[in-house]
Order: sequence, then C-alpha cells, then structure tokens
Amino acid sequence: MADVIITITCPVCKKEFSKKAKDLRDGTVVKCPGCGEKTTIRGTMFTDMIDKLDDGRSGHA
Ligand SMILES: [Zn+2]
Repeated sequence: MADVIITITCPVCKKEFSKKAKDLRDGTVVKCPGCGEKTTIRGTMFTDMIDKLDDGRSGHA
C-alpha cells in the first residue's frame, strides 16, 4: 500500500513540508523545518486533508 503524504503549511513562515499520513494522528506535534514552529495536528484537520485528496481528483479548483 502506498504511503499517503500530507502536506502541511506552517502557520508562521508559510513553508510547506510533508509528512506521511501514517505518522500523523490526532495530537501529533510536527516541527516546521523552516522556522521550528511546532504545530499540533488536529483530528478534524487531518481528515479534512484526506477528504481534499479524494475530492481533488474530479473537482480541482
Ligand atoms: Zn515555519
């Protein structure tokens, strides 16, 4: 099974970085490689990103 890669945009410096979905779960803290800001992954945020991945195939904006 292929890894699902989640792109996270840092709220501070706007740098985008990627994490494997399987490494993320509700409450996981990820550290921005650009500025070091720590962002906590929320469960709803995570599922929203998965939904967008699915929907994006047919309805890309
Ligand atoms: Zn940052």
